[in-house]
Amino acid sequence: MPNNQEITQETQLFAMRHSAEHVLTMAMEQLYGSDEKNNPIIIKAMGPAIADGFYFDFDIATSATAKGFKITEKDFPKIEKAMRKLIQQDLLMEKIDVSMKVARQIFANNIYKQELLDGLANAQDFEISESVSDGKSMIKQQMLEQKPSKLTLYLTGRAEQIAADKKLLAGLEMMSNNDQASIKLASFVDLCKGPHVAKISEIKAFKLLSIAGAYWRGDEKNKMLTRIYGTAFASQAALDDYLAKKQMAEERNHRKIGKEMELFAIIPEIGQGLPVWLPNGYAMRRVIEDYMMKMERRFGYVHILTPHLNRKELFEKSGHLGFYAENMYPPLVYEEKDASGKVIGQEAEVYYPKPMNCPAGIMVYKLKNHSYRDLPIKMGEFGTVYRREKSGELHGLQRVRGFTQNDAHIYCTPEQLKDQFKEVMSMLDIFYKDIGFNNYHFRLSISDPDKAKFQSCGKRSDWEKAENIMREILNEAGVQYVEAKGEAAFYGPKLDVQAVNVFGKEDSISTIQVDFNLPERLDVFYIDEKGVKQRPFVIHRALIGSFERFFAFLIEHYGGDFPVWFAPVQVRILPIADRHLNYARQLMDQLLDEGVRVEIDDRSERLQAKIRSSEVSRVPIMLIIGDNELAAKQVGMRVRGQARVRAEALIKAHQLEGVMTKSGDLGLQSLEVLEKFLKK
Ligand SMILES: [Zn+2]
Ligand SMILES: [Zn+2]
Repeated sequence: MPNNQEITQETQLFAMRHSAEHVLTMAMEQLYGSDEKNNPIIIKAMGPAIADGFYFDFDIATSATAKGFKITEKDFPKIEKAMRKLIQQDLLMEKIDVSMKVARQIFANNIYKQELLDGLANAQDFEISESVSDGKSMIKQQMLEQKPSKLTLYLTGRAEQIAADKKLLAGLEMMSNNDQASIKLASFVDLCKGPHVAKISEIKAFKLLSIAGAYWRGDEKNKMLTRIYGTAFASQAALDDYLAKKQMAEERNHRKIGKEMELFAIIPEIGQGLPVWLPNGYAMRRVIEDYMMKMERRFGYVHILTPHLNRKELFEKSGHLGFYAENMYPPLVYEEKDASGKVIGQEAEVYYPKPMNCPAGIMVYKLKNHSYRDLPIKMGEFGTVYRREKSGELHGLQRVRGFTQNDAHIYCTPEQLKDQFKEVMSMLDIFYKDIGFNNYHFRLSISDPDKAKFQSCGKRSDWEKAENIMREILNEAGVQYVEAKGEAAFYGPKLDVQAVNVFGKEDSISTIQVDFNLPERLDVFYIDEKGVKQRPFVIHRALIGSFERFFAFLIEHYGGDFPVWFAPVQVRILPIADRHLNYARQLMDQLLDEGVRVEIDDRSERLQAKIRSSEVSRVPIMLIIGDNELAAKQVGMRVRGQARVRAEALIKAHQLEGVMTKSGDLGLQSLEVLEKFLKK
């Protein structure tokens, strides 16, 4: 939980970024306010402070565009210089409230401000929300609370300019029938609710980041404006740190690395949002799948596999066609006709690509009557689901239309609920440690009993029981979590695990969700000690979430430098000359027999070139074979990014296999283990 001090810092940063956005606009008006004939080149539209900075949208006048004028990132140094000059002056930012009439006079020549004022005059919600490119949370332009009768403006300028403007404006307000069309102020003015810094010299460090086209108010029917993104921080060091992380994020972008390492591809002919796993990516996925299946079996899970298509009737019963239809693909209709073209049978069969694995999974549970003695039943499925996503929302492996979940459903008695949760939590802990994610936190989404949304399914006492247990377990584990009241799904509380990667980007990886809806709708039961039918608690849980989304995170977390145990190619053998090829092939066979993912670089290239291409492909281990190695039946080993170490003995393949495929805390330590072994 953030403490008060953090909140204040956050607010200050927000105020600083908001102010920087005004300084950008001021600088832009200075530079491009009007041409020699006094026609405007740019017109300020609007812009907010956002999650990690700010932006502002400028309209470039049609007359200027016609002359080929545009703003590009090449203009940033010039704009930044003008901004810096403003910041060095002793300029104040002062709030002033004006009437609608005066506001209209101030912004007489600005169609955008007039439209905003129209909106406020009609007391419409003027909520501008903008999702930021990296998908981070959005901050809304806070103009909502403005009362149309009084509008908040901010004046930026020297003390005497502001004083003069205030006097002028106060005078205008007093005049009952001033019908002046427009007025000019000495200071810079913008319509804004703030908060801002008192002096713009409080902006300690800023930078313009990028430029993009954006439709006015996000509507493609409107004009395309020029959006400039920037950010501001309390110190140069904090800005530098942010820029370094941003660069790292760009370098580690999973789409970029996915392409370089040939992990996955989106092939338009196959389908948008339907990623294809290439040999390297699939090799990794299989390792993780095997790992997870092994762990789940160890914890008493059984596994099933249900079809991609399920009948319409099932989704009617489960309720998905009622509450989830908009996320589902359209149905497939199957009819069988006889030779004369007449439909055979009663009616057509209608199937939907399944959006969730649960209904089919529950039907498997229901194949048999279960007694309390059978519970808990833990049934896993690496089930592929299909969901409708708008093409504009699709993003690499992160947002896709077809994906495979590491799904499981746990059926248990009320008495078993706590232990089952605990068990999932310990599996989670093992998994995160093994995979090398050491920074994560929990988000517990619970109900709000007063809201109608949470009254449609499940007994109140069951909701409370589940929520209390989830909270107890989190408290007992002493882990960091936030509780979000009213954020639960209508059918049950859930626990999400947010993993934070090395450069601070977070994503929800795992989910544990209690369901009060499906057991009721699909009549899931067990027979208790007294021979009476009872509803079990049903928990959906996905530790890996979906493989696609998980891999997007995993690739960016490691920047492609994967731990040996799940690297797509673990070892590459580099013979120095052709006369070393036979021995290299022998060695490769030996390693292949042991299940090591090994390749040989048999091109007639110089060793340095081979080493370089292995480094580029991010192969963790290189085994080098030259005359000396051949004579002594040894190998030279080079660990990615490190100097070559000479092995004293021939690799004993089975021992190597033990190091490379066994799960455990084999992150980067496995390299050391391997090195020690080879030096022995
Ligand atoms: Zn502002
Ligand atoms: Zn489920």
